Amino acid sequence: MLIAGCDFEDSCEAVALSEDFSQFGLYASIGIHPHESSRYESIPDAFSRLVHDTKVVAVGEIGLDYHYDHSPREIQRKMFEAQLEFAEREKMPVILHIRDAMNDALAILSDYGGLKMLFHCYSGGFKYLDDVLEFDSMCAFGGALTWPSKGLGELRDVFRKIPLERILLETDSPYMTPVPFRGKTNEPAYIKHVYDKAAELRSMTVEELASQIETNAKEFFKWE
Ligand SMILES: [Zn+2]
Repeated sequence: MLIAGCDFEDSCEAVALSEDFSQFGLYASIGIHPHESSRYESIPDAFSRLVHDTKVVAVGEIGLDYHYDHSPREIQRKMFEAQLEFAEREKMPVILHIRDAMNDALAILSDYGGLKMLFHCYSGGFKYLDDVLEFDSMCAFGGALTWPSKGLGELRDVFRKIPLERILLETDSPYMTPVPFRGKTNEPAYIKHVYDKAAELRSMTVEELASQIETNAKEFFKWE
């Protein structure tokens, strides 16, 4: 299991948690989320040290979020590129948060084609799927798979058709709470409900799917 950092403080917290709960196979990523980009002039200096912690297996969440625009787009792009360069230098995979910004994100990512990329909460539909799969990439899916909304039919279809070896599952807690806990705060334990729905959509048993996801995660993050 991986806990993702979204700013300097919770990147440090993710690393500390991954050490405290090491016996459960917890790992961490460090990154500055697009929402938080405007709080930083550049990547925190301490990241250069933190990235070498044995529990850190990726740089992220990094990316672009034009849905909320909590940071100006120009600043989001600058921080995104700086962190892609950092990941390239450190030979680390990246965890991408991209919302309503796929065109700009793909244009930037095309300069970093050697990176391993995880498209967290993949929401690009069939429109962007081929471009995304061209990269050395995984797509992660979460609670939205379980939501009843008809508008999510395409997301479920994408999930049914994407190659099995390119899938990871996530909670995105505290957000995106799966059925039957919608309206409550999401937590990692609810991943079970994502697995149940995902296995149903792929016509697999939960055990078969879990084994595949474990293989995918090991392949992507190179953890033990
Ligand atoms: Zn995110």
